[in-house]
Amino acid sequence: MTSPADLEAFVRRYFERRSAPLREEEPGVFRASLPESLRPAFDGADAIRISFDPGAAASAPRVDLVAVGSYLLDRIVEDATRAGWHTVARVEAPPTPPADVVAGSIRPKNATVAVDASSTETVPHLLFNFRVRMMSDERVDRFESVLVDSRTGKERRPAASLFEERPGLPEDGTVDGAGIAAAYRSACQALEGRIAADATAFREQAEALRKAEVERITSYFDRSVNEVLDSRASGASEARALELDRERRLAEAEEKYRFAGEVELCNVRTVLLDVMHADVTLEHRGARRTVRVEFDAATLDVPPLRCEVCGASTREPVLCFGGHLAGPECVSACGFCDRVHCRTCIAVEGAIAPCATCRRPACPDHAEVCALSRKPYCPDHIHACAICGRTVGPEYVARCVSCEQAYCVVCVAPPAERCQTCRSLAVAPPDDPAVAAIRRRDPGLAKVTKWRRASNQRFTVLIAKGLVWNQLLVTDPSGTVVLQKKVLGT
Ligand SMILES: [Zn+2]
Ligand SMILES: [Zn+2]
Ligand SMILES: [Zn+2]
Ligand SMILES: [Zn+2]
Ligand SMILES: [Zn+2]
Ligand SMILES: [Zn+2]
Repeated sequence: MTSPADLEAFVRRYFERRSAPLREEEPGVFRASLPESLRPAFDGADAIRISFDPGAAASAPRVDLVAVGSYLLDRIVEDATRAGWHTVARVEAPPTPPADVVAGSIRPKNATVAVDASSTETVPHLLFNFRVRMMSDERVDRFESVLVDSRTGKERRPAASLFEERPGLPEDGTVDGAGIAAAYRSACQALEGRIAADATAFREQAEALRKAEVERITSYFDRSVNEVLDSRASGASEARALELDRERRLAEAEEKYRFAGEVELCNVRTVLLDVMHADVTLEHRGARRTVRVEFDAATLDVPPLRCEVCGASTREPVLCFGGHLAGPECVSACGFCDRVHCRTCIAVEGAIAPCATCRRPACPDHAEVCALSRKPYCPDHIHACAICGRTVGPEYVARCVSCEQAYCVVCVAPPAERCQTCRSLAVAPPDDPAVAAIRRRDPGLAKVTKWRRASNQRFTVLIAKGLVWNQLLVTDPSGTVVLQKKVLGT
C-alpha cells in the first residue's frame, strides 16, 4: 500500500465491507461509520470524520487524517487483519466415527460397506475470499470462497463452518510463501471456472441491451432528421444539430452498457483442516473391493466414487462380480439371479449375454449356448435333448411325429420325422419292468403279450401289439404316462 490512491481505495473498501461506504460531508471530508470492532479504540464513537487530504484535514474541525502511520490507519489494518488476512484457524476431526460418515455418503446398490482402517492428518489449507463485480447498466457483486489444499493444490469444497468466527492461532509458518503463490494460482483457476458462464451471460445480456438501445436511437434520429429536412427550408442546420445530439446519445449508450468485470482478493486465511482417510470395503457373495476415500473435518463429505467404466461420479455404486465399481448406467444384471457385471466385463468376457429368443440378460450360470448355433439362451429357451444330451435353442428343436416329444433336430430325422428312440424300438418280454408296470395299471393292456420298447435319458416309448390297432405309450422318469394313442404298425 504505497500510493495515496491505493491507500484511499483500501480504506474505502474496508468501510464498505465492514460498515458502510464513506459519505462526503464537505469537500475532501468523509463521514465513516465505525464497525463494532473499532469503536473501543475511538472512545465508543459510532462514526468519525476522516480525510485523505492533509490540507482538508487541517482546515476542517475534528477530522482524522488517514495516512501511513496514522493512528486511524493502524487500527483499520489491525481490524482487517483480524477479520481475515493471515489468520490461522483450525478445524479438528469431529467425534463422528469414520464408518458413520462413510455409510452416509457411499450407498452401494448391491454390497455391504465396512471401514477397515482410518487415519487423520492435519493439512494446511488456504481459504481465498474473492469479491467479484460485474458491471454494465447494472452491477452484480458476489463473494466467492475457494479452499485450496496446500499439499496438492487441489480445490476442496468450503463448508459454511469455515466462515464462523474462530480464535485466530499464531502464525507459525504452516504455509510458506511459495505454497501461497501456487495455491493462489489454483484458486484463481477455480474461480475462473466458477464465474466464466455467468460472466459470459451477463456480458451477452448487456450487449443485447446496448444493441437494442443503439437501434432505437438510430431509428428515432433518422426519422427526426428526415422530418426536419422535409418540412422546413432551414432544415439543414437543425438536422446537423440533431445529428450531433444523436452522436452524443450513442456515446452515452456505449458507456452505459459497457461491460467491466473485476475480481478482488479480499483476504486469505490459513485453515488447518483435519483430513481423514479410510479404507472402505464393499463386498457381496461374488466380489470384494477396497477403496481408499478421503474427507475433511469441515464438510464430512466423502466425495462420490467414480464409475470405473465411464468415470461418472456416483453415490450409489454397483459392485460388479468381476470386482469393478461402476455406476448403475454401466452395469447389466442377470435376469435370473443377483449377478451383475460392468460393461468392461461384458465387452471382454461376454459376462452377461441376452437370450437370443427373449433378450433377457443371463449370467454365465444362467446362459446356455446352443450346441448347433452357438447362440446364448436363457433357461426358459434352451432345450436339452433327451436322446443325445445336446442343448439347443428353439430353432433347433424338433418334435417326433410318433412319440410327440421334443428333441434336437439331429435326433429327429427325415424322411419319417421320427426320433432316434422311436426308430430303435425292440421286442420286449412281458415281464420287462416298464411293460409290467403298464400291464398292472391298465386292465385293457394286461392281456397284451407282444410288446416293443425303447428308452432315452427321459422317456420310455412302448408299443402294445393289438389285432388291428397298436397302442403307443410314452412314460416319463416317474413312470407317468405322458402320451397314449392308437397307431397302425410301429
Ligand atoms: Zn459408468
Ligand atoms: Zn444368473
Ligand atoms: Zn466388471
Ligand atoms: Zn429366453
Ligand atoms: Zn439330440
Ligand atoms: Zn419319437
